[in-house]
Amino acid sequence: MNNTRTWQPDEIVPKPFDFVPFAPVARADTVGHERVRGDDFISGVLELEWEALSHIAVSSGSYVLFEELGNREPGLIMGLYRVGNIPTIPGSTLKGVVRSIVEAATASCITTTRVERRWLPIPDSSTRDGCTPAHACPACSMFGRMNRMSKIRFGDAQPDEPIRTLGWRVKPLHNPHANDAPPVYRTDNGHGQYKGRKFYRHGRMATSETDAPIEAMPRQTRLTSKVWFTNLAPHEMGALCFGLGLDGTIALKLGGHKPRCLGSLGSGMIALRLADATDFTRSDAHASKIEGEPAKDWVQMSIQHAVKHSFLHGAQVDSLREILNYQDRAACPPEMY
Ligand SMILES: [Zn+2]
Repeated sequence: MNNTRTWQPDEIVPKPFDFVPFAPVARADTVGHERVRGDDFISGVLELEWEALSHIAVSSGSYVLFEELGNREPGLIMGLYRVGNIPTIPGSTLKGVVRSIVEAATASCITTTRVERRWLPIPDSSTRDGCTPAHACPACSMFGRMNRMSKIRFGDAQPDEPIRTLGWRVKPLHNPHANDAPPVYRTDNGHGQYKGRKFYRHGRMATSETDAPIEAMPRQTRLTSKVWFTNLAPHEMGALCFGLGLDGTIALKLGGHKPRCLGSLGSGMIALRLADATDFTRSDAHASKIEGEPAKDWVQMSIQHAVKHSFLHGAQVDSLREILNYQDRAACPPEMY
């Protein structure tokens, strides 16, 4: 914790988020997942390990009795999402956060459900409507677009061993919407355009003794999950590895209470199983397995390949690494900011 910043109460509280500038959108014909291809396309499974770097609160949306969690204090609290009674980070949550990083780092389109189109600094064709199943931006090609299924499937992440959850007291926040929002989302250059895609920074967790607790997965919880992928081009594989944080330069941020610095998740690869077109449909038995140092080298090579071919955009990657770097983190604001 030596290299964390601290702020004093009389300082202006830093915003717990920042913006990655939009990259121009580029679309190409897509390659489906219906048939496993060989040649230059990669199919297989990533076996991943995760560590909660802060408490994590991916909630079920319903309340549970605090006592049932082994706590003495009575009352109802917002419970964690569970599968088979085990606290779980759903695959869909992982997919969402990895997709948002890949979108920001590549020439991908913009989801416009929560923004005003007139404030976008890039052409109207940059929005999601411009992507079709056959011709799409990088993120839509990899993660799916409407009825076209994703080439990447995320399994749920669960702890390897039974864990004891905790009640964490946080001051609730209202959901910020870019529409009605604070000028901080837009430039002050006269046009008032959006600054870019918003990402929450990592930080030291804020708590508030006077507020009600929520159920959280404690810091240092270790989890595992799998990611299946079909027909990824090598540069798409590099973008996926970067989005998963597998080169160690970024950590993911997910779940509730991100502005209070919950939800930091570090990742690592246990193994990568690559299949060729003939093996994959039968079983994993013939798939080649890469683990340990060679797996780390493979991740680095994949990401470098994607950067070299400008599939991952250097400026956006640098910006994401600056915002989502876990080492250089400040305290999160415990109150309004
Ligand atoms: Zn798209």
